Amino acid sequence: MNVKQKVRPMDTQLKLLGSKPPELAPIKHIKAPVDPSTLHHRQLLDGAFWQKIPAYRLVDEATFLDHTWQAKNTITNPQKLLQAVQDLVPQSFYDDVSKGFHLAPMSIRVSPYLLSLIDWSNAYTDPLRRQFVPVASRLLPDHPKLTLDSLHEQADAPVPGLTHRYPDKALFLALDTCPVYCRFCTRSYAVGVDTDEVEKVSLKATEERWERAFRYISERPELEDIVVSGGDSYQLKARQITLIGNKLLELPNIRRIRFATKGPAVMPMKLITDHEWLDALTAVVERGRKLHKEVVLHTHFNHPNEITAITKRALDGVFERGIITRNQSVLQRGVNDTIAVMQLLVKRLGHCQVQPYYVYVHDLVKGVEDLRTTLQTACDIEKAVRGTTAGFHTPTFVVDAPGGGGKRVAHSFEHYDRDTGISVFAAPSVKPGFFLYFDPVDTLAPEIQAKWSDKAKQDEMIADAIAKANANMAASAHASSVR
Ligand SMILES: *Cc1c(COP(=O)(O)O)cnc(C)c1O
Ligand code: SF4
Repeated sequence: MNVKQKVRPMDTQLKLLGSKPPELAPIKHIKAPVDPSTLHHRQLLDGAFWQKIPAYRLVDEATFLDHTWQAKNTITNPQKLLQAVQDLVPQSFYDDVSKGFHLAPMSIRVSPYLLSLIDWSNAYTDPLRRQFVPVASRLLPDHPKLTLDSLHEQADAPVPGLTHRYPDKALFLALDTCPVYCRFCTRSYAVGVDTDEVEKVSLKATEERWERAFRYISERPELEDIVVSGGDSYQLKARQITLIGNKLLELPNIRRIRFATKGPAVMPMKLITDHEWLDALTAVVERGRKLHKEVVLHTHFNHPNEITAITKRALDGVFERGIITRNQSVLQRGVNDTIAVMQLLVKRLGHCQVQPYYVYVHDLVKGVEDLRTTLQTACDIEKAVRGTTAGFHTPTFVVDAPGGGGKRVAHSFEHYDRDTGISVFAAPSVKPGFFLYFDPVDTLAPEIQAKWSDKAKQDEMIADAIAKANANMAASAHASSVR
């Protein structure tokens, strides 16, 4: 007889002892105890926080949680901002914002929820203000090597709105509007159609364009993974979620679908009050599960202040429906470019069962040089975040290589000249050649800044970086046994 079978299960043992648990010797803690009040990631902003904004002083919770109210009261110009915030900021700030709106290459759209999360008494430094509301006085000149659509999303698009760069996955830009407009948006070349009429007119054309995208996907057996983005999946009507989801699920080659949306970060209440939208997504997820296909939500939080008790409630609902949510952040100067903020963001996302997936080094985008960081910043923060929580909650820090090289791990450069701010990446499975990233010029030493304003010296610095990358690669190829 097996000895093990004689051992009684724990609950029977406890019963035999009566209901009293056995006396335990005190446990010696090796690690110093943690003061629970320092676990900031669990302390979420709650209550009627929006009522400190003059325009929302009388807005009750039911109204604030109504996504249609949020959409209707979204701020799209400086006048509306003035009406909402009133005397919380001085006139000089409005003037700065008005100029900033005028200079911005991107439309502006800020939900009342986001507006309420900004600390207007520190408007210049507030991390949410910096992301969504431009001020002229803080703008910096663009990097000389910046081009619109720096990621070559259009060049890699076989049909409009479908970027097929990697072997087995493609990016489907379903539409060109968002629940918010981010200053730092990579797609400022496409995103930002603003008026209601234009949206209505383009809608039908949109669905015809989709058919061409589905046709292309069906003709490429190697495609397995589709990112549905935009713009933003939040802007899709429930029936459009159903249509896109079903069309893609019915293609035998498709195994994975991600609906990408910034919505949970800027208007979480939609997940609480727009039942039709969440039900449509849930139905696609459930149908996918039956077909053994993964359908998930990808979202975009950048700062821990974007995660409130409302967010938690919204994401709890998503989690209860068995929908996996992952997050992609953009590393931004003055927003989330410190170890403490990034660690808090990662932990807070985890607390809401959102898996931090990527942190992007800021793309070369027009008009937002003040938001970019150096590559070194990304490498330093990555090092400090790794090891603080579960590996599957540890984001990978990536550079989306300008020129269409795709995402490369920030640490994986072939060469990085911290003086000139030039980093060189290779993407052997995506595209031949080198891909260059450039640190913001204002972060470099004055004599190097001077070089960047001289075309001949720019070419010299770049040629030098490429030569060094070539030398590094030749040396490591010689030493490596990987074939
Ligand atoms: C980011 C991206 C994808 C998805 O890449 P993952 O690394 O799998 O998240 C697909 N296509 C394009 C063009 C992309 O930019
Ligand atoms: S939500 Fe995404 S696509 Fe829309 S403006 Fe922001 S970053 Fe760009």
